[in-house]
Amino acid sequence: MKYEAVIGLEIHAELKTASKMFCSCPNGFGLEKEPNINICPVCTGQPGTLPVANIEAIKKVIKTALALNCRINDFSKFDRKNYFYPDLPKGYQISQYDKPLSEHGYLEVGDSKVRITRIHLEEDTGKLIHPAGADYSLLDLNRAGVPLMELVTEPDIRSGGEAKKFCQELQLIFRYLGVSDADMEKGQMRCEVNISIRQKGAEKFGTKVEIKNLNSFKVVEKSIDYEIKRQTEALEKGEKIIQETRGWDDAKALTFSQRIKEEAHDYRYFPEPDLPPLNGLLKWAEEIKKELPELPAQRRARFGKEYGLPEADVEALICDPELSEYFEEVSSELNEWAKTAEPKIDVKKSVKLAVNYLTTEIPRIAGLSQNENYNLREKITPENFAEFIKTIAQNVVSSSGAQTVLAEMFKTGADPSHIIKEKDLAQVSNEEELAEKINQVLEENASAVEQYKKGKQNSLMFLVGKVMAATKGKANPQVVTEMLKNRFK
Ligand SMILES: [Zn+2]
Repeated sequence: MKYEAVIGLEIHAELKTASKMFCSCPNGFGLEKEPNINICPVCTGQPGTLPVANIEAIKKVIKTALALNCRINDFSKFDRKNYFYPDLPKGYQISQYDKPLSEHGYLEVGDSKVRITRIHLEEDTGKLIHPAGADYSLLDLNRAGVPLMELVTEPDIRSGGEAKKFCQELQLIFRYLGVSDADMEKGQMRCEVNISIRQKGAEKFGTKVEIKNLNSFKVVEKSIDYEIKRQTEALEKGEKIIQETRGWDDAKALTFSQRIKEEAHDYRYFPEPDLPPLNGLLKWAEEIKKELPELPAQRRARFGKEYGLPEADVEALICDPELSEYFEEVSSELNEWAKTAEPKIDVKKSVKLAVNYLTTEIPRIAGLSQNENYNLREKITPENFAEFIKTIAQNVVSSSGAQTVLAEMFKTGADPSHIIKEKDLAQVSNEEELAEKINQVLEENASAVEQYKKGKQNSLMFLVGKVMAATKGKANPQVVTEMLKNRFK
């Protein structure tokens, strides 16, 4: 309790653009089937080639910056960051140094407000591959020159949980803006942590440790919490914290020293002479601002109010921008329908039913058919999905029948009434139709009837089961139960 952690993050996100940052090679999002297919003389650093800046990438960074309450710099420029590494063919990276596109923003997550130091634009590097046992390494330049957005925060974070929430909200914002898919496992979003410990209330920071190569939100949280514990224990024992870079070992659930930091690197930054500086960005930003969509925080608040859903449901919907839009279309169909539906239906209940099917049943069915990367809209139209909810609300199908219908809709895209007819899944609620089967079951199970009359409640369930079996599962169990109870009165 004596200490507190001081944590800052550095986040890289690959931008979703058609082409790379400084050439016209396709931006393949890391999905290339072969190495070195999306390359050209520019992104492989051949002598005599010249870069041309991708205006869409610049726009996407400004869009992100506006969404994160940043100040846009009217004047910005690119700089060369010089260092040698085999995955960097030019011997320098085009980045931004003292005039980034934007600075001084913030993001509120729950009760905490994390200030954003800057967001700038640079190019990604290639990738080195080290085949097991080989005495050589391979170089893939598909990623070289992919537009990369770098976001740096102030050291405003105090725990692993807070850092995780911040990263998750950031990912969501990137997705809502359509600037990046930001999938951490695919390396589209990468996170580095700076962490130090100090006595509570102290102004001076402790010695800073960097944690690198964190490839999931969970690992961000776990590695930070581990470091807090490790550094606190070291301080308690009177040991000194060493300034170093550490990695995360997931199997052992601990951080380990990768290298001790020598002097800070001198990258000999200087303005990129092959690219003109960027002027008049503020005016452009005014235009871009008009294109900003509803952001996750706004949608979260609106969904809570408009649909009266519990927090967990709201979160399950808004964590996927596509899904939340889909849900809104379904919900508006249900609302329209409820105005005239006969028999009357509880629209709030139907909407809640839609949420349950969307957030639990659909992912389950997708998992069963090993089709996890599906586009729901392409599988089932919102109109058909609303239709499906109506059939349940009006007891046209039972809940088990509904599962069959939904799985079939997911597979074929057919509309629910068609499937119900085709597969003969309509639930029988008509008392006249059920009466005959009930008579038959009562005759065949006289002893169960006797036992029920003697007070054995289980016998009623047994008889309902018999009627269900006799109707091949098509009887409406609620109606059957009511009919049986009436008979015994
Ligand atoms: Zn290229």
